[in-house]
Amino acid sequence: MTTSPLKMTKKILIIGSGFSSISAATYLADKGYDVTVFEKNSSFGGRARKFEANGFTFDMGPSWYWMPDVFEKYFNDFGKSVSDFYNLKKLDPAYRVYFGKNDYIEIEDSLEKISETFEKIEKGASKNLLKFMAEAKNNYSVAMEKVVYKPGKSILELVTPGTIRRLRYFTTNIKSEVSRYFKNKKLRQIMEFPVLFLGAKPEKTPAFYNIMNHADLGLGTWFPEKGGMHKVVESMIKLAKEKGVNFKSDQNVDEIMVSNKRIKGVISNGKEFPADIVISGADYNHTEKLIPNNLKNYDDSFWNKKVFAPSSLLFYIGLNKKVKKLPHHNLFFDVDFNKHASEIYDNPKWPESPLFYLNFPSLSDKSMAPDGCENCFILIPIAPDLEDKEEIREKYLNIILKRIEDISGEKINDNIIFKKSFCVKDFMDDYNSYKGNAYGLANTLLQTSIFKPKMKSKKIKGLYFTGQLTVPGPGVPPSLISGKIVSSEVIKDYPNQ
Ligand SMILES: Cc1cc2nc3c(=O)[nH]c(=O)nc-3n(C[C@H](O)[C@H](O)[C@H](O)COP(=O)(O)OP(=O)(O)OC[C@H]3O[C@@H](n4cnc5c(N)ncnc54)[C@H](O)[C@@H]3O)c2cc1C
Repeated sequence: MTTSPLKMTKKILIIGSGFSSISAATYLADKGYDVTVFEKNSSFGGRARKFEANGFTFDMGPSWYWMPDVFEKYFNDFGKSVSDFYNLKKLDPAYRVYFGKNDYIEIEDSLEKISETFEKIEKGASKNLLKFMAEAKNNYSVAMEKVVYKPGKSILELVTPGTIRRLRYFTTNIKSEVSRYFKNKKLRQIMEFPVLFLGAKPEKTPAFYNIMNHADLGLGTWFPEKGGMHKVVESMIKLAKEKGVNFKSDQNVDEIMVSNKRIKGVISNGKEFPADIVISGADYNHTEKLIPNNLKNYDDSFWNKKVFAPSSLLFYIGLNKKVKKLPHHNLFFDVDFNKHASEIYDNPKWPESPLFYLNFPSLSDKSMAPDGCENCFILIPIAPDLEDKEEIREKYLNIILKRIEDISGEKINDNIIFKKSFCVKDFMDDYNSYKGNAYGLANTLLQTSIFKPKMKSKKIKGLYFTGQLTVPGPGVPPSLISGKIVSSEVIKDYPNQ
């Protein structure tokens, strides 16, 4: 009689249930690993959680569904398609940008229409936009094919014929690149807007990130129907569970257990859970507080020198009326952008007169608000680590509500039937976020790719990091990619046999 060799399934514990963690969990479970996700909060999705109150459903974080190709590729990796889980609606207009009272530009749903809008504002801008966008599209293809799916381990990853030909885009910044094509200040602001998602000023962001212009104007702004952004979280979890991933909520990881510089498991809610491998999708700095000091990849001075993406003051508001004068996504650029940016990055303080972002997801999905009501989300970018007090939040809400009414003519102040705010302190308490950052590290040149904090512990065998603080960076699509990259590293290091 012959005995078949015992199949040793590696036990993997993943900290956090953000997009990167769910992604990593799914890729690994798909390859036969035994995967469990431990989330400290009572609901899943990390910064993209949702909450329900008074008949309203609020997406707590991301609201812009960009780069639909990345989501499609994600589901394709498992033989599925986005349409197996949710339907996408292309928004038209994609968004509106206010520059002053009744002074706005609307970005429509095709490059052709957008270039006509540009031409009306600046003679020749249509041709320049198409030239700019052709370059942005080429960079996007190079990024997707050659750069963003790489683990950021060696500079050689970046040396490809495609990237070498496009070297110029790494030595100049997006602000000067945009100024070569457009003179009009409003057009320049529209073209600089997408890189704000990457958490740094346009003058500090390499021009290669015009890939974000392709994501914005080229690929368009989408919305997952019947559920908004959280529909993506729910769909990914559904797929993960099909692959066998276990999800545990209210499961705070208090300590990562290490013995002889090798992972032993974690202590969660005071109980030991053995594991062969631990992957953390929680904020990097927090994860390193869960291991002995001498085994950290980076000390506090490393984090202190880093440029963090902004934090945010957020408001989730329920209105007892339907909004008539504003579309789904609105940017209020009616104040001095440079001043606000300097109050975020150079001289961190509460902004005197902030830019802000306003959206009404229930305009695209009625189920997100009761009948006759509207769901409203406001985001004010602010420096991380600012003093966060209720009076300050309230002061800004009043300033912003007044500006919305003055500038757009849409009266909402007397129609608020629900409101909740979220700011620096909540980012720290709810997500263990370093200094209350909202989107991790800024994608400046020296914080891109190989310069990002490493995915693999240098000192503990079996410990890995994923998420917006690692490669490729902040945002939902990069977080999906981050989970894929870290899972490939684990599969290479610990083949499941
Ligand atoms: C307000 C806001 C708006 C945004 N808008 C957009 C947008 O429109 N489009 C876009 O693409 N991106 C947007 N982003 C960025 C995007 O949401 C993030 O980059 C992405 O969700 C980060 O995912 P992640 O996997 O890195 O981890 P996170 O979402 O940060 O998840 C980490 C998880 O770890 C958990 N955790 C922490 N410590 C522990 C512990 N000790 N034990 C157990 N669990 C723990 C946390 O509770 C959390 O659930 C936005 C972000 C914010 C905050």
